[in-house]
Formats: sequence, structure tokens, C-alpha cells
Amino acid sequence: MPKDFLAGVLPEYDVIVIGSGLAGMTAANVLGRAGHRVLLLEQHYKLGGLATWFKRPGSHTFDISLHGFPYGMLKSCKRYWNEEIASNIVQLNRIRFDNPMFSLTTTYNREDFTDLLSSQFGVAREEVTRFFDTARGMNFYDDQSLTTGELFEKFFPGREDIVRLLMEPITYANGSTLEDPAITYGIVFSNFMAKGVFIYEGGTDDLVGKMQAELTRNGVDTRIRCDVSKILVGREGIEGVIVNGREIKCRAVVSNSNLRSTIFNLVGSEHFDSKFVEDARAVRLNNSSTQVYMALKPEVEIPEETGDLLFCSTASLFRTELLLDRNITSRTFSFYYPRTRPHGKQRHAIVSSTNANWSDWADLNDQEYQASKQDLIETTLDALEKYVPNCRDKVELIDAATPKTFHHYTKHQLGASFGTKFEGLAVSRALPQQVPGLYHAGSVGIIMSGWLGAINYGVIVSNEVDQMLCRSASLPTPAPAT
Ligand SMILES: Cc1cc2nc3c(=O)[nH]c(=O)nc-3n(C[C@H](O)[C@H](O)[C@H](O)COP(=O)(O)OP(=O)(O)OC[C@H]3O[C@@H](n4cnc5c(N)ncnc54)[C@H](O)[C@@H]3O)c2cc1C
Repeated sequence: MPKDFLAGVLPEYDVIVIGSGLAGMTAANVLGRAGHRVLLLEQHYKLGGLATWFKRPGSHTFDISLHGFPYGMLKSCKRYWNEEIASNIVQLNRIRFDNPMFSLTTTYNREDFTDLLSSQFGVAREEVTRFFDTARGMNFYDDQSLTTGELFEKFFPGREDIVRLLMEPITYANGSTLEDPAITYGIVFSNFMAKGVFIYEGGTDDLVGKMQAELTRNGVDTRIRCDVSKILVGREGIEGVIVNGREIKCRAVVSNSNLRSTIFNLVGSEHFDSKFVEDARAVRLNNSSTQVYMALKPEVEIPEETGDLLFCSTASLFRTELLLDRNITSRTFSFYYPRTRPHGKQRHAIVSSTNANWSDWADLNDQEYQASKQDLIETTLDALEKYVPNCRDKVELIDAATPKTFHHYTKHQLGASFGTKFEGLAVSRALPQQVPGLYHAGSVGIIMSGWLGAINYGVIVSNEVDQMLCRSASLPTPAPAT
């Protein structure tokens, strides 16, 4: 008999969270902590969503999305998870750029960038200060007509080198472009500039393991291999879900599944008004990614000067579309030293990440797909040679992921790495007005993406669900989780 992954499940919960990405897990944790009965359903065989890892023989563990996040993660983890998790968040000190326009190493914070922009790029310090203050002052309610490209042109006219320095990491970090509203750049860039780039020491497996333990402590019923096929909507709003063919009732649903899948596949467009459906159809998905994972032989060490994160490119100019091109010219290398996993075997690993288009991979037949993957591996090793000489002799194990891989494991349409573009945020926020009890928390709109954005979005939504549940049960409202 196949195992019943829903064995012992209750017939009814206060809230069901669909998906255990960082937003889903955080929402479940905050709601569990507030005393609600929470069921967290994940279709994959492990929790974490895109915050994930995989193991290979020889004590090799590869992280998929542990490349860097802003300092705000530490505060969010401390408040909404626990001290133990927060204490593992450490700074990456060597962020490198190498491209035909410039080569430099930075701590990637405001102080260092101010020095760089004035000494190496010749911009007056007062102008740099004005730029940083403007970026930091942006908020969601600002006029959104100014694009990031226009923002740069205003402060650094004609300076393609400065645009590259300021924009390339953010485009990698969330797929945003020069044509996106400047606010999407300003908020994310300022978050990083506050203190630099941080990482979770111990690896994603350690983080997700600790989150899982915290969910259990807070009474969240967590199930893997549980694929939700339908969100049930009645006259009054949310009634439950269908998961693995079984109906479970609830008063609220937080979907951490892709926004478009939530609306069109799990709920169904017939439950929304026509204007909302039109807006939801217009939401663009974000781009996808490819990655190449390289484990070094046990005796091989990478000198620390190689850097923690390296944004390298052979393209003479910075162009967003070049960062997505299958003919790869730009890569981000993450170098993982043994300190990344201090308690494991002393291993070095390198992960190369590149933004990618679904269309370059989706329709390849098996043979073409394998050949394209092999080409991705070979060209990545060619590019790495400049930074890790003789790398082909040093690598013990190598593997690659494509947009199809991300789609396979997370069900994200078109393998989207950061959910949807900015317009997804308003649609995600409007869900409860359309269907009472229906919420979405997950990567949308650039700001609410990445590890920090996803966690913070999970918190915002869980507070709203908490209010709604307390209101509908006419119970006194517990203290909000802020
Ligand atoms: C290659 C790559 C590198 C990245 N690097 C970074 C980085 O360095 N720093 C950073 O901050 N961010 C990075 N990110 C982005 C970051 O990982 C994501 O933004 C974040 O983890 C997304 O969290 P989420 O809550 O939106 O959910 P997701 O991680 O998208 O998870 C959604 C979950 O829902 C589950 N699910 C979907 N449908 C169903 C269903 N019907 N039933 C049950 N379960 C379902 C999925 O299986 C999945 O587990 C990277 C992403 C990629 C792809």
C-alpha cells in the first residue's frame, strides 16, 4: 500500500498554508505561534521551496539559492523564527566584479560604494550621497512612473560603467531591469547597502531543519508529498482544499504556490470579477535561471582572495537581455569555503548562476536537452578557468540545473526564479477582497522576493490572516506578531 502522507490529519483547520517556501513556512510559523490550528502542505518531498539543497556522494551538499541576502534577514529570523537561526547569519566580505569595464572587490555597503564611486569612478561625494538618500527614501506609495534607467540617468548621465556596478547584482538578485519602476531597484539596493551581503552559515539544510523544528514546537501540522489540486470556494468565501484527493476544511488559505497558478489553477477564474481576472492575466512571470554545481576534490582549496561572490562578464556593455541570453556572457560564481558548513567535512564548492529564459530549454527533445546541459557545464568551466586555474583537474563532481529543473521541483510556471514581476504584488494583495479568506504569500514584485522579501511577505500576510480569523471567530485579538 502506498504511504498515506495525510495519515492522522484533522478534518478541519483554521488555516491551510499551501507550499513550504520561506513565505509559506514563515506564515505558518507566525500563525501557529499565535495559537491557530495550522496545516502546512508541501507537494515536494522536503520543505523549503527554492530555499533548498541537494546532496551527492562524497559528503557534497549544494545550496541552490544561498548566495546572499540583506542584513534584514537577521532581524526577521530573530523575530519570526528564533535566536538560534538568527545567530547563524554572517556577512560575506568579498564581493567581486570583473568585466571589460572594471574589476574590483567590495564589501558591498554604502560606505565602500561611496568610496569606490568617488575614487574609482570620479563622482563627487555629494552626488553619491544624494543618490543613496534618494534610493533609500523610496517607498511603495511613491510615484511609480520613474524607471530605474531614468533614475541612473538623472544622477550619473551617460555612465554605463556606473549603471553596471549598481545594477548588475540586482538584476541577478531578482531579474529586475532598467525598465522596471525605480522603486523596485531603490528598495532592494538600499536593503543591501545598509550593511552588505549576508549568508546563512551551516547551509540551507541546517536552516530548513531548524525551521521545521520550530514549526513543530509551534504546533503546525506539516506534511510533505501533499499536492493541493483545488482550493474550495463557497458563497461566503474559503471552505477548504483538496489535497491528494482528500477534502480538508478550513476558514482561510495562504497559498505560497505561484500567484498565477493560485488564481487560475487552484481557485479558478470563475470566482473572481472580470477586472481582477484581466489584471491577473497581465501579470508577467519573472525569468528563470540555470546553475552549474561544482564540488572540488577533498585536497583542493580555493584561496579566500577568490572572493565569496563574483559577478563576472565578458560582455563589453551591460544589457539586461544579455544576462538572459542562452549564449552566456555573464555569470555569478558563489564560492563556498568549508566555513559555510563548519560542522561538516572540509569541502569547497562553487555554484555558477545565470538568469535564463524558459523558452531556451522548454521545447528541446531529450537528446538536445542533455547536449545543452553539457554545453552549459563546459562553457562554465571555460569561464571559471580565469579565476580558478586548472579547474577541470580540481573538480570532482559537476551537475547542472535548468529552468525545467526549477519548474519540476517547485511547480513555478516557466521555472520562474522570483515569482512574478512587480504588477503581481497588487494582484496578490487584492485576493482577500475577491474571495474572503484567500491569501497569497510568496515571491511577487521584486521587493517581496528573495529570502528576505519572501519571509517578510509571509509575516505581513499572516498578520492579516490572524486578524481575519480572530474577527470571524469573534475572539479577542491576540497581540500582532510584530
Ligand atoms: C537559482 C536561484 C538562486 C537564488 N538565489 C537567491 C539568493 O541568493 N538570495 C535570495 O534572497 N534569493 C535567492 N533566490 C530566490 C529565493 O530563493 C526565492 O525568492 C524564495 O526562496 C521564494 O520563496 P517563496 O516563499 O516565494 O516560495 P517558493 O520557494 O517558490 O516555494 C513555493 C513552494 O510551494 C510548493 N507548492 C507549489 N504548488 C503547490 C501545491 N499545489 N501543493 C503543495 N505545494 C505546492 C512548492 O513545491 C514550493 O515548495 C534564488 C532563486 C533561484 C531559483
